Amino acid sequence: MKVVCYDCKKYDTVAFEKYAKDYPHVELVPIEVKLDKTTAYLAEGCKAVCVFVHDDVNREVLQILTSKGVEMLALRCAGFNNIDLKAAKELGIKVISRVPAYSPYSVAEHAMALIMAANRKIHKAYHRVKEGDFSIRGLQGFDMYKKVVGIMGTGKIGELTAGILKNGFQCEVIAYDIYKNPNIEKMGIPYVSKEEIFQKSDIISLHVPLNKDTKYMINADAINMMKPNVMIVNTSRGAIIDTKAVIEGLKRKKIGSLAIDVYEFEDDFFYEDRSDQVIHDDTLMRLLTFPNVVVTSHQAYFTEEAMKNISESVLKSLEQYATGAELDKTNIVSMDQ
Ligand code: NAD
Repeated sequence: MKVVCYDCKKYDTVAFEKYAKDYPHVELVPIEVKLDKTTAYLAEGCKAVCVFVHDDVNREVLQILTSKGVEMLALRCAGFNNIDLKAAKELGIKVISRVPAYSPYSVAEHAMALIMAANRKIHKAYHRVKEGDFSIRGLQGFDMYKKVVGIMGTGKIGELTAGILKNGFQCEVIAYDIYKNPNIEKMGIPYVSKEEIFQKSDIISLHVPLNKDTKYMINADAINMMKPNVMIVNTSRGAIIDTKAVIEGLKRKKIGSLAIDVYEFEDDFFYEDRSDQVIHDDTLMRLLTFPNVVVTSHQAYFTEEAMKNISESVLKSLEQYATGAELDKTNIVSMDQ
């Protein structure tokens, strides 16, 4: 089965090639362009396409894909907020697979890297020392010990992040989720309301998926409830945060620091080298001017282990579809949500 793999960078191809021999019915065709209405026609002759977080799989794109004979979407990520599920169902996509848990450790550990970088100003110290400036003025951080950390979303990644903070740093962790995770309660972490997270936390770490209820969860009203100097950390999806409201919060020093791996309008920038171009996104550029903002380019997932698990899981789902075998239930995205 021929499968066009959109937005496929060299490191993706390398990972896929390593494991491809075990999946003989799948022929992956890697292409660097993203999936949109201008590139969907490249799926001609393919029963499946492999897509990533910045591929915009809207109704128009799905119309083109299905007209070319595409039956399956194989996501090589966990989130599926970029897929119009209703349109997929209506247009006759037969199955959508994803990789629900390729390595929650990768993202939880990156959240910790962001927290520690923002707290201890590693991003500033690194450049300062390289320039021969060994002063430490402005680099003062705070002890993590006993700080109140609010975890929003206690699924796989939120649970691990909570565990590292509670058991490693001895923080006072509190949690918010629409469903309770018994492992969180076993760690002695109390569930509180969303408002309490905003009011009590020194650090807020976001681990909810992006959906209509979580979009702009961090908005002006939420920021107004927060403690002065709060740190906000987002490794989930950019639009959980209303970036303009956060910029206002940073300007009036209500927010002490912001550490993000995701940004609402990242699609045109993240994963691309734009260093020789004029960047027209004034919101992103304003964010980058703050000394207390750390931005990484959606790299939280990017570890050796995660790439192995993603490649094997995507190839396995495709192989199962190609051979008419039943797909692993946990990998199937329901089109009825
Ligand atoms: P998960 O499904 O295991 O956990 C998500 C949790 O959020 C669940 O417990 C769910 O009940 C909760 N939730 C859903 N809606 C909510 C709401 N309205 N209010 C409060 N809680 C709500 O997901 P996960 O594997 O922990 O991943 C979390 C998110 O991390 C993903 O959705 C994805 O967007 C993001 N992610 C980012 C990267 C990266 O590289 N930066 C990589 C993987 C995942």
